[in-house]
Amino acid sequence: MPPFISSLQSRINMFFDSFFGLTHRFKILILSGVSEALTIPRWFSICFKKDLGAGDENIARITWDSEKRQITNIVFFEEGLRFKCKRCAVLCCKLGGPKVSEKDVERLKEAGYKDMDFLDTAIDKEVKPRSIKEGVLKQKMDGSCIFLQYDGRNKLYKCGVYDLRPASCRLYPFEFEVLEPKTVMLKFIPCCNGLNTHSGALVDKKFIEEHLLESILKSL
Ligand code: SF4
Ligand code: SF4
Repeated sequence: MPPFISSLQSRINMFFDSFFGLTHRFKILILSGVSEALTIPRWFSICFKKDLGAGDENIARITWDSEKRQITNIVFFEEGLRFKCKRCAVLCCKLGGPKVSEKDVERLKEAGYKDMDFLDTAIDKEVKPRSIKEGVLKQKMDGSCIFLQYDGRNKLYKCGVYDLRPASCRLYPFEFEVLEPKTVMLKFIPCCNGLNTHSGALVDKKFIEEHLLESILKSL
């Protein structure tokens, strides 16, 4: 046998010996990483998008029926994207207070919150008071949103106003660009630990209809 083949064979044997010597937990971690890399066709999607002149963050062009509140046409530019929130809050709720719309402010006020307690009224660079339309939620000293809470028992973060949270929080890590009345381009925001998680939900038509469409319609 040529020396390079026997050297390769011994390296493969060493790899398998080391792999099977690992604890069960490490084996699962490695296998899930490999399967994640193999099953998500990101590179194919990126090439496909470039052919169509679409941006890397574009997921799908969506058109809907306003009365039925259902998608009537959808063209995907990102196939196989998965998402599962890990409740880490690192790349969303700890980066300052999110933008709020007038509707968001009204919803919180109707629930009994006083706008002076949650709305950041700091003046901007042009020394103009912020209007409610372009306001943000207040933040704590560490830059996290005023409503962010930590569940120490489960080591997870949670939103203290989950059912009332602003539209931008409902959509995160997704956003949209209006293309025509009743047509938007759905995009993802790459800064999120929950994107491309192997155990995450597939971002397909069903996911968009169930989790995103209503928030998009309410934000328009
Ligand atoms: S949306 Fe993303 S960054 Fe925010 S808590 Fe969930 S996984 Fe973490
Ligand atoms: S309102 Fe809730 S979801 Fe939005 S940034 Fe604050 S804690 Fe996070």
